[in-house]
Amino acid sequence: MQNSALFVQQGIDRPPLINPDASSFFRKHQPPEYAAQTYIDGIRNGDLSILSQAITLIESTRSDHQRIACNVLEACLPFSGNSIRIGITGVPGAGKSTFIESFGSYLTREGRRLAVLAIDPSSERSKGSILGDKTRMERLAGDPNAFIRPSPSAGSLGGVARKTRESLILCEAAGYNVIFIETVGVGQSEIAVHSMTDFFLLLMLSGAGDELQGIKRGVMEMADLIVINKADGDNVAKASLAQSLYQNALHLFPPTGSEWTPMALTASAVEHKGLDAILQKIIDYFSLTRTNGYMQYKRRQQARYWMNETINETLRNRFFRHPHKKKVAFALGKEGGRVKKPSSLLV
Ligand code: GDP
Repeated sequence: MQNSALFVQQGIDRPPLINPDASSFFRKHQPPEYAAQTYIDGIRNGDLSILSQAITLIESTRSDHQRIACNVLEACLPFSGNSIRIGITGVPGAGKSTFIESFGSYLTREGRRLAVLAIDPSSERSKGSILGDKTRMERLAGDPNAFIRPSPSAGSLGGVARKTRESLILCEAAGYNVIFIETVGVGQSEIAVHSMTDFFLLLMLSGAGDELQGIKRGVMEMADLIVINKADGDNVAKASLAQSLYQNALHLFPPTGSEWTPMALTASAVEHKGLDAILQKIIDYFSLTRTNGYMQYKRRQQARYWMNETINETLRNRFFRHPHKKKVAFALGKEGGRVKKPSSLLV
């Protein structure tokens, strides 16, 4: 019998189909079930853990979370708008996180409170999205005057960007007066960053043409300041050359309407060089655009843009979830609404 093919050996216990740790993982990553007022009070009192949880609430897709998030946002809106919002972009390797750490620490030493957010729709948090790994900015992560938040996890660019903008409002209500929004300068996401910031800083490398750096002309056109990073060691002369090349290139772009003349500077994030000049340019920009009304105009335009985006997204979602739409889609095709390809077209 032992040798029979019909003999069934005692197997090992079948492992559960669902990872038993999963439920505690998801519980841990869900925002706690506070009332909106608890979030609002926590944010206004500068409670970092409540601020983080409120952002998690904003990022949640659950409709009950969304409802509370909406109330929290509405209550925070009157306390927002008082920061300077700076978009920072550049190709991977340009030195964004090193620069943010260096310039950010310089700003907090000057007494400013800094929040760093990101827009990176291309990657999931678990796969190391930009800012996903706080070890990239160790010093800033431990700075009591800085708050670092990774990009919302993968989704449509519009959705990710909207969540970042809403997080920005909460950070401002929590008293952060400088906001950095980091993005990778290779796709569409810098347009989203541009639509929620006042000042756009493009980080470049010397010794590489802009084609090589994958920066599109449109991205350069949006820049209020180009910083040639890594101007240290043997690279100083090359960085100065790149600075004058970019400076000349910037003159070729049409005026932005802000009366500001974009310019190129050099810096070294590693050696903390060139930071005073960058801050001075940012201060000059804000002083000019607050005086001539451009900043207020731009923020109103941005508010209108986001209102339209929200309306579009809400209407689109409602439309696609509507039972009648589903019925029509089903009637148009067979097999659950899928349109079947004629067999003659199948290869
Ligand atoms: P990111 O991908 O744009 O965030 O770039 P990182 O900040 O991760 O920097 C990429 C590499 O460039 C790292 O090895 C940094 O140490 C280096 N790096 C960044 N800034 C500087 C700088 O100012 N000078 C030099 N020499 N290296 C730098």
